[in-house]
Amino acid sequence: MVQKSAPPGEEIILVGIGVSPGIARGPVHLSTAVFETPQLEEIPPEGVEGERVRLRAALAATRQQLQVMRDRIASEIGTKDADIFDAHLLMLEDRSVLDEVFSRLEQRPQKAEGAFYGVMSRYVETLKRIGDEYLRERTVDIEDVARRVVRNLRGLQPEHAPGEPHVLLCAELTPSDTAGLDRATVLGFATEGGSHTSHSTIMARSMGIPAVVGLPDITARFHTGQDALLDGYQGLLILNPSPETIANYAVTRRKKAALERHLREMVDLPAETCDGRRIVLAANIEFESEMAEVKAWGAEGVGLYRTEFLFLNRPSLPSEDEQAGNYARIASAAGPEGVIIRTLDVGGDKLHSLHGSLAEANPFLGWRGIRVSLKRRQLFKSQLRAILRASTSGKVRVLFPMISGLEELREARATLQECREELRAEGIPFDEAMETGAMIEVPSAALMADSLAKEVDFFSIGTNDLIQYTLAVDRGNEMVADLYQPCHPGILKLLGNISDAARRAGIWTGVCGEMAGDISLTPLMVGLGFHELSMSTPQLPMVKYAIRKLPAERCVRLAQDALLLGETAKIRDRCREVALEYYSELFVS
Ligand code: PEP
Ligand code: MG
Repeated sequence: MVQKSAPPGEEIILVGIGVSPGIARGPVHLSTAVFETPQLEEIPPEGVEGERVRLRAALAATRQQLQVMRDRIASEIGTKDADIFDAHLLMLEDRSVLDEVFSRLEQRPQKAEGAFYGVMSRYVETLKRIGDEYLRERTVDIEDVARRVVRNLRGLQPEHAPGEPHVLLCAELTPSDTAGLDRATVLGFATEGGSHTSHSTIMARSMGIPAVVGLPDITARFHTGQDALLDGYQGLLILNPSPETIANYAVTRRKKAALERHLREMVDLPAETCDGRRIVLAANIEFESEMAEVKAWGAEGVGLYRTEFLFLNRPSLPSEDEQAGNYARIASAAGPEGVIIRTLDVGGDKLHSLHGSLAEANPFLGWRGIRVSLKRRQLFKSQLRAILRASTSGKVRVLFPMISGLEELREARATLQECREELRAEGIPFDEAMETGAMIEVPSAALMADSLAKEVDFFSIGTNDLIQYTLAVDRGNEMVADLYQPCHPGILKLLGNISDAARRAGIWTGVCGEMAGDISLTPLMVGLGFHELSMSTPQLPMVKYAIRKLPAERCVRLAQDALLLGETAKIRDRCREVALEYYSELFVS
């Protein structure tokens, strides 16, 4: 929400949602990367020749940009990664595309943007319907090239992230955009859309990049080069910060740094309540490169490896061998608790490129998670075989996402069994006792936790989705971000139900959604009896500190009371009271 506007030069404070902690100050870089799909725009017939000329010029400009990018990538990273640009360049040489666009222009005089994009989109849709995985994958490249050409037709400069440190402002960031951010230059980012649990912000937390979301109109109101200060703790974007504001933030930074030093001293201590209840603290990761941080922050293992990110931003799917190598390296580095490898959770806001169908109206309710894996059997089996193969390199557990009932779980487990038999027949070793878990993130699964608990070795609660599906609140939509309430009594009832069901069945339960890393909710997590909490690595020391201060017996009473309170605000306040009573020093700002 915009709180105050002011003439250029005067301090402007915008209040959004702080989704990744930290303070960043630097010049603004405004990104215009959001793509608006061109619509059909009719023109008089005499304008057609001009559109042809514009299109040829845009194609030439695109070709030149791609060549420059290819050469840069080839010299910086290697020719293998640069090959993708050769494929893009070839698309621009395709005569049949140009002929079809020109005939569209003749038949129905219109702007080149709509005609060109229309033809390219038709190709994309046709390829998506073909059963061939490789061809379907190519559609991402075609879309990419089509967008570049349209941007050039519109006279927009291609995006160049500045080589200097900056605060990035943009309308929205996809998970793949976030994955591509350069940590050395992006000091922090602010977006118009997004929420606490959208995947881009989860990644920002893992990457340690301060971020604020839910700031409408920032891309229209601000420009590159303005001085900005981003407060990811309180969710503030401050343009032209005054000397007084800068001085205040210098004090906050010093306090935070002192706290961090203190927390770092605890990395080797166990996460144990002051009355002796042990809780496993683990890390959520998206990339293998995070393993150094996992160790540095004292995680006992990886509680959630979101493997879909291994499939992102690349021209082809990773092979079974590549996956096996990646999983094995993570397993061997993961520590005593090992790694919980979640099978592909594509769909929702992640990896639309794997989708072989048209865009979905409700992607979060659509073809996502285990639903995709059970339909794409070869893909699923290659992942399961790779996970099994990695299980000899360290402790490995497998976790199925988006389970909504027994049938899906059984089918997934039967596929795993098939893979075990295949490997046995091939003489390839694996851990016969590898544990299998179900994510509990769909309300139906939470309600039938008793039945599901009999068929798995553990539960991992995905509170991000459990909240979105239970409260009918899109986790990525800033318009309803205020309705996304982890302390809703309905959520608490489900959490209690899952925990009780697991205890009755004698299996353990972890929480890997964002609730696990929120220090104001740690008393509730302990009180509900969860055995493991898994979170972004930077959150680990704070949660460990909180756990070590808390008496478990007090937390159990809190959870019992909270279950009876019946109102979100009361539950939230009660949790915070307990948190402040035992570790108010963590809430410095
Ligand atoms: C969740 O839903 O809470 C979860 C951990 O999975 P993801 O955020 O990847 O959907
Ligand atoms: Mg989820």
